[in-house]
Amino acid sequence: MAGKVTFDRDRCKGCELCALVCPKHIIVMDADATNRKGYHPATVRDEDAEKCTGCASCAKMCPDSIITVERS
Ligand code: SF4
Ligand code: SF4
Repeated sequence: MAGKVTFDRDRCKGCELCALVCPKHIIVMDADATNRKGYHPATVRDEDAEKCTGCASCAKMCPDSIITVERS
């Protein structure tokens, strides 16, 4: 199973909970970006995107429900 995650980047508070629970360890805080709230938002690098299984652990963990997971 494969998955694709998207983040509502401007609403991310950089708490890293999603990164902690991802079993594939592919979520990082994007040091190259600062969002509207002043945080480095969570992201999955392009080169890691194919490792996502679509397990949705990240989406369940996010306290602000800003992660969307599509399964294919
Ligand atoms: S859906 Fe699962 S594998 Fe994909 S980024 Fe979220 S926690 Fe990681
Ligand atoms: S759990 Fe949600 S708010 Fe926290 S870093 Fe991840 S996407 Fe951002």
